[in-house]
Amino acid sequence: MEAKKKKIMFIINPISGVYKKKNVPEKIARYIDYVQYDYTIRFTQYAGHATLIAQQAVAEGYDVCVAVGGDGSINEVAQSLVGTNTALGIIPYGSGNGFATHLKIPPRDAEGALRVLNTGKSVKLDLGKSNLRYFVSNAGFGIDSSVARRFHHHAIRGLASYAWAIVKELLFYFQPFHAKVEIDDVTIERDFFLFTAFNANQYGYDYAVYPFTSMKDGVLDVIVLNRFPLWKLFWIVGCLMMKRADLIKESESYRAKRIKIYGNKKMVYQFDGDSVIHHDDIEIEIVPSCIQVIVPNNLIAY
Ligand SMILES: [Mg+2]
Repeated sequence: MEAKKKKIMFIINPISGVYKKKNVPEKIARYIDYVQYDYTIRFTQYAGHATLIAQQAVAEGYDVCVAVGGDGSINEVAQSLVGTNTALGIIPYGSGNGFATHLKIPPRDAEGALRVLNTGKSVKLDLGKSNLRYFVSNAGFGIDSSVARRFHHHAIRGLASYAWAIVKELLFYFQPFHAKVEIDDVTIERDFFLFTAFNANQYGYDYAVYPFTSMKDGVLDVIVLNRFPLWKLFWIVGCLMMKRADLIKESESYRAKRIKIYGNKKMVYQFDGDSVIHHDDIEIEIVPSCIQVIVPNNLIAY
């Protein structure tokens, strides 16, 4: 008797992103394993639509729901898959693909990503959560959220232009954020250049601050960059690019299950690279092993 096929849904945002996804449906038709899968493709029509489509996929008993896009698209789909039996699949087509890169799913290579869906395994991963919304890759505030706000993602291609956008931001616009933050039992209050909590190790653009961040260890890796004199700018950017945050006197590292940011004024945050303005306190926590994700079969460390 023939085994029952798994139902897989691909969710494609036809407009967003730098990279053309026009031929993705054709690649799916060509490379998906028909022995294993019955597939459906749905296109999103507005921001946030992917969350609703994924919710319907769960209700209709889909086994896998695939986000085609970057961290922002994965973020939208993941919201509806937490705690369900529907696994998240990824075809990475963003400008920054932090989550997928951490999981060694090849970016902008539909054939390679479909191979992962055909031959991969399903694992349970942690997600970050903030005020009822989950984030998949990282969240925080400071220089990166200012850059995300000022420059649209499609205007920034690659690590070099991102680094340049950060230097411009620092030289011409950026004011450090004064904030009070609780990181588990530690409270710090100061001027921050950067505060980022990592679930995935990747910032995107194939760049990681920490080499060993795990998505199954039940903690967020936090980097803090305190106010520094501007003449140190290139030294600091250089250290970050070499993944040597430990050499920066003004940086601190934490591992945390719970973070509370006291926001008494307007603050710009970023969640998975999308900027959000918030006036109130924000709580961030790790939700361990809450989502199933299809990853390469030979992936060991994640
Ligand atoms: Mg972790």
